[in-house]
Amino acid sequence: IAAERFLIMDEVLGVIRLLEPESNRRGIRLELNWSGDEWYIYGYRARIKQAVLNILKNAMEAIATKGSIVEVSVYASINQVVLTVEDDGPGLEDKVLKNLFVPFYTTKPDGTGLGLSTTQRIILDHGGEIFAENSLRLGGARFEVRLPISNG
Ligand code: ADP
Ligand code: MG
Repeated sequence: IAAERFLIMDEVLGVIRLLEPESNRRGIRLELNWSGDEWYIYGYRARIKQAVLNILKNAMEAIATKGSIVEVSVYASINQVVLTVEDDGPGLEDKVLKNLFVPFYTTKPDGTGLGLSTTQRIILDHGGEIFAENSLRLGGARFEVRLPISNG
């Protein structure tokens, strides 16, 4: 597989489509805020898809205990495409925030703790940035991913 230019929304929409059966079954509101504009990025689509899936999976898992909304927003900011994933679950305690991206760190009985360390690796390899905080608006967690827009 080779690196290529591709539309990031192909992968974001692919992940949402993948998770829709589960969100429907569990009564989760999986929402997308997106203008319909398209942006190319450069890299490996399967890896970007995996990164987005890991973040969304975590949000769906977090709201098993508390909450019912996962909100995905995608927009451009100057030369970056910005993807945010926000939920109304229990949010991130200080200790969790400090260890989120550490390989094998998990608070789940059956977790691997590899999702977010892998995701961070992928985003950094693509020249992007990732960070997490608590969502003031929804009361759960908020993840933000920024990737460079590829201008041909
Ligand atoms: P895993 O999902 O196998 O536990 P991850 O690397 O994907 O491993 O996540 C690490 C930890 O980060 C999780 O165990 C959980 O404590 C925390 N976490 C990640 N996303 C969220 C979220 N949306 N809400 C609350 N906690 C989260
Ligand atoms: Mg995970």
